[in-house]
Amino acid sequence: MDYKKSWAILVGGLWIGGILAAIGFLAKIDPPLWAGIVIMAVALTQGDLFYRCPHCKKRMNFRMKRPEHCPECGGKLD
Ligand SMILES: [Zn+2]
Repeated sequence: MDYKKSWAILVGGLWIGGILAAIGFLAKIDPPLWAGIVIMAVALTQGDLFYRCPHCKKRMNFRMKRPEHCPECGGKLD
């Protein structure tokens, strides 16, 4: 998996999972709450594994916008 796909899944999963969990929490219904938590956990886990610089394999910070250059090795990210 390339890092761009991983980033999309990571951010999308956190949004979808977060919304589901919030709905479940506020409406006090368990299934969406747990589904949301599981989705967020999966998104974070795969991000941890795959959202890395393609040059130096260093993990990147997903809280920021995708950088144009790796903050670690300066390699170009497209
Ligand atoms: Zn790098």
